[in-house]
Amino acid sequence: MNPFEKLKEIILNNNSFLISSHVNPDADAIGSELAFFYLLKKLNKKVKVINHSKTPYNLEFLDSDKVIEKYDETLHSNIFNEIDVFLLLDLNQAYRIVKMENGFRNFNGIKVCIDHHQDPENTFDLLIDDTNYAATGEIIYDFIKSTNIAELDYNIAFQLYAAIMTDTGSFRFERTTYKTHLMIAELLKFGVSPLDVYDKIYNQFNFGRIKLLGQTLSSVQLDNTQKIAYMTVTQKMLQETSTCEDDVDGFVNYCLSIQNVVIGILFYELNDGLKISFRSKGNIPVNLLAKEFGGGGHTNASGARLFNIKINDIKDKVISRAKYYLEMESK
Ligand code: 5GP
Ligand code: MN
Repeated sequence: MNPFEKLKEIILNNNSFLISSHVNPDADAIGSELAFFYLLKKLNKKVKVINHSKTPYNLEFLDSDKVIEKYDETLHSNIFNEIDVFLLLDLNQAYRIVKMENGFRNFNGIKVCIDHHQDPENTFDLLIDDTNYAATGEIIYDFIKSTNIAELDYNIAFQLYAAIMTDTGSFRFERTTYKTHLMIAELLKFGVSPLDVYDKIYNQFNFGRIKLLGQTLSSVQLDNTQKIAYMTVTQKMLQETSTCEDDVDGFVNYCLSIQNVVIGILFYELNDGLKISFRSKGNIPVNLLAKEFGGGGHTNASGARLFNIKINDIKDKVISRAKYYLEMESK
């Protein structure tokens, strides 16, 4: 049976669902979760959406029905006994649900993963992981259309539009195909406003964010090949500008706007460690680079979180490993 039909069967044969996505969810994560939520509600299923992280403030408008809960060990202590199916969207390694990972590992029900990243773990009863898709939202779209499990509607279309728009970099990243545009055309028929979705996600940031961007851009440096650009965000910068981690999303992309630069790196200081974001052009596999530091992602966009280490203790090593991938690429 093809995986979409298998998923349809799982949905129709079960009653209670838990949906989750990765730490620091982006709009593909949130949009995919909410699209699935509305789909399952249409089918009269019991559904909960619970995330490790709170929804970034610029994405809260997507959750206008306040469906998403933030995981709370006490409040949700019994959740895994109450559900038949645990559905992970936009991630394929359970460590990325952080505090919910234990519950996932011990869960005896059906574990489903829908994702478009590389290197899935093999603990799922059903794994739909296809790196040809630009967004998890696209996979959900194809699932709904190809199985006819339910009719699309405005609520679902709105969420899928946000998921696909953001994960394609507003329809310009490499995996944006004619199929992406055909899906988007279909979604727009339900009345989704591209102007409105874009404006809410990208043009409604706190004032401090633009100040933080200024400081971050001022920190940019090039390595001696001038093909690697890197920038730093510290907790001090966040305090000075009254900003938070949500505000840093997208900054690393500026590295790739510099002539000749093909690898961009952002070092983000956490209270107990750091987060590194990698971006690349062409075939430079920054997912492999991120993997060396315990992270992962896509060929051109990846990241890692490291604990109990300071940026300056690891920066040179990261840049030196980035150079390795640069040299491999030019061979
Ligand atoms: P960002 O730099 O925007 O936080 O993340 C870019 C991409 O890298 C994400 O879409 C995600 O696929 C991946 N990524 C970021 N952080 C991690 C991480 O800690 N582990 C893994 N496996 N992937 C990550
Ligand atoms: Mn995604």
